[in-house]
Amino acid sequence: MVPDSRKIMCIGLDGATWNILRPRMAAGQMPNLKRLCEGGAVGELDSIFPPETPAAWPSFMTGKNPGKHGAFDFLVYDPEKKRERPVNSTLREGKTIWDHLTEAGKTSLILNVPTTYPVQPLNGCLISGFLTPEGVKDWAYPPELVEELEEELGRYPHFFETMSFVCAHSEKNATLFLDELESMDRTKFEVCEKLFDRHQPDFTMLHIWGTDRLQHELWHWFDEAHPKYDAAMAKKFGPRIDAYYTMCDEYVGRLAAKVGDDGLTFVISDHGFGPTHYFIDLNSWLLQEGFIVLKNTVKVRLKKLLWNLGVTPQNATKLAYPFLKFAMKIKATAPEASLQKSSGTLRLPCMLNLNEDVDWDKTRAYAPFGWSGIFINTAGIRPNGSVPEADYDTVRDAIVERLQDLKNPDTGECVAHPIHLKKDMYHGPYTPWGPDIMPLPLDKQHMPVCFFGFQSKQPVYPNNTLYGNHLLEGIVMAHGNGARPGGETHGHLIDMAPTILYLLGLPVPDDMDGKVLEDLIDPGVLESMPITMKAMSGTDAEESNGLSEEEEEELRARLEGLGYL
Ligand SMILES: [Zn+2]
Repeated sequence: MVPDSRKIMCIGLDGATWNILRPRMAAGQMPNLKRLCEGGAVGELDSIFPPETPAAWPSFMTGKNPGKHGAFDFLVYDPEKKRERPVNSTLREGKTIWDHLTEAGKTSLILNVPTTYPVQPLNGCLISGFLTPEGVKDWAYPPELVEELEEELGRYPHFFETMSFVCAHSEKNATLFLDELESMDRTKFEVCEKLFDRHQPDFTMLHIWGTDRLQHELWHWFDEAHPKYDAAMAKKFGPRIDAYYTMCDEYVGRLAAKVGDDGLTFVISDHGFGPTHYFIDLNSWLLQEGFIVLKNTVKVRLKKLLWNLGVTPQNATKLAYPFLKFAMKIKATAPEASLQKSSGTLRLPCMLNLNEDVDWDKTRAYAPFGWSGIFINTAGIRPNGSVPEADYDTVRDAIVERLQDLKNPDTGECVAHPIHLKKDMYHGPYTPWGPDIMPLPLDKQHMPVCFFGFQSKQPVYPNNTLYGNHLLEGIVMAHGNGARPGGETHGHLIDMAPTILYLLGLPVPDDMDGKVLEDLIDPGVLESMPITMKAMSGTDAEESNGLSEEEEEELRARLEGLGYL
């Protein structure tokens, strides 16, 4: 039997990857993680499709693929309202780990996990995370927790002020960025310690975002093989970057110690990370191949002409940055210091835009969201669908066939494979609204993207912003009571929910797609406590109060500001 005293501490380092952690562990910069790995079990944890925050964390907490919880990207298609809305806790379906624990009388402490706003009541405490609208005050449960925390700590660092998504940072801006990152995550770790001490919860989940942010913005300062590697900045800022990882390691060690000998610590990530050398502009490619058709109006023909002549965000940054600074209203999210030397393109409006310039009656496929692949413009599914269901397979196969031939003009190599299809990626009631085709390049250095527009005339172009990006392979380590010393696994993010519930003595809900990660678990525990299943009715939809229109607008504007849309 599971001792009643077993507590589980799960620390989610967003985007953490072995490629970054292992060398630091070997160099003595992350001694606590090293100790946890050596005395416990380790492995890869494959994310979901797409390996992106707003889809991955719902999969972690529900144990389900996006076809069941409905969050495929930052925006969720709401079939009732017939429009896309920013994902939130009421738009994603499915009971979370902590909902199941609440029903079983166990307590939880859930901190900063993306997509947990609006907060839902639970047996324990919860502070919502990324995708909480700015300015709201009801981001914690119980509600008085907000006031208590802010009285003690000042403003809780809900939003990352210096987030810019523009690279080639100046020294001044890099310093601001790292200062805020360190201070934000230090507060979050310390709040976790404080609330753990106070409540002694059975399950603690802490989400730390800084690992993801740092790797997006500064990958080229610790990867000598990156085309944008900057040796001078690497030398200057290397020690600070190292210090950030060491700080995370120290706090992970402190939290692991808190669960005691009877407790178990997981360190996980929601997706992996790696360098991006090239972007693949899926909308430009679909336009080039005739799957996207533009309106035949004078205005759009003129815009297309200018675009053909090279008036694209990719070129514009090279030509006229000081002018663009005014034109693009970037300063709302990027600090002044970063703009002067930035080569970012994400915030720049495109000459051609999906929302304004596309002839939807003739467009057969498009790429509407950040990183989530190609959507066929299917009638009855997409807001302006024109492809009859009977033609779906033909259109899909034609896209796949041509995508396989997409070459990088610099290297001559085909870069857009392997290509994943909807039928292999998803199952469940929300599947129709998921992406239909998703290339995830094997070389891991080409990243397919779309930002509601057409960034570059050339579909494959050298990356000039966001130098590190998400990969499928995240991490998992397990240490303590119930972990298998020396165990190794290659699991999936959706396996964490059943694994955690099992280790807390609960049956696994049979509507979860994940499996208990037995390779991580002490064989003695598996023998003495067989895995049991719990039948679910399949009607666990949560009451929907959702976000107000103003809150949705604010979130949408902020996501656009960050370059996610
Ligand atoms: Zn990220």
